This record gives sequence, C-alpha cells and structure tokens, in this order.
Amino acid sequence: MEDIKKTDEQWRRELTPEQFEVLRRGATERPFTGALLHNKADGSYACAACGNALFNSDTKFDSGSGWPSFTEPANAANVTLLEDRSHGMHRVEVRCKRCGSHLGHIFDDGPGPTGQRYCINSAALDFKPGAKT
Ligand code: FE
Repeated sequence: MEDIKKTDEQWRRELTPEQFEVLRRGATERPFTGALLHNKADGSYACAACGNALFNSDTKFDSGSGWPSFTEPANAANVTLLEDRSHGMHRVEVRCKRCGSHLGHIFDDGPGPTGQRYCINSAALDFKPGAKT
C-alpha cells in the first residue's frame, strides 16, 4: 500500500477541525464524547484520514474508558506503534501506517489473549457497516 503524504493545508481542507486536531496534531478527544463509542454494529473501522482498514467490530469491547476500545487491529501491518513519553507518561502511540495519522494508544489491560487494549479516538475512525476487512 502506498504511503499517503499531504500538507497540513490539504489535511485541513479534508478533515473537520476536530479530526485535524486528533489525527494530525495528536490530540485526544474528551472521553465519553465520541460518536462511535457505543457503536455495537457489525462492520469495520477505517482511518478517517485515508480510509486504511484498521479495526473490525468483533474485536471492539466496552472498556469503560470513554474511548472506543479494541483488542487487536484488523491487520497489524496497517498500524505503526511508537513510544510516546509526552505528558509525563510512558505510553505506546498507535498511528495509521498508511498516512501517519495519530489514532490513539495501546494499554496492557485488555480482555483478550494478548491483554492489549487499543484505545482509539472516535474522531480518528470511519465506521463502515457490514463488511469486515
Ligand atoms: Fe490513515
């Protein structure tokens, strides 16, 4: 898959202000505010910036954190994991592999066999009902 590179000016034109702040500036949406937080429909979740397939509904769970939470990505090759020492914390950041946009962070308190919780901003995701990726 080709990497996508755009200027901030291009991203600003294509994204909502909230999407731009989260995806391109690494902001975190306020907890319990995201449109997809309580979405339980079958389908897939794509990067809101570039459409890259990121998560499937069968790995989504209610973590109580206030952000959409997944046990694993649809394809590990579609995300990039980066050490993040900002805000006085040591976290692992999740970015879209294709466009480099910030998605959220991984924590190790998840319910699945790997124990991982992908804590993802709703604003970073586009939900596509039905088809899984
Ligand atoms: Fe992307």
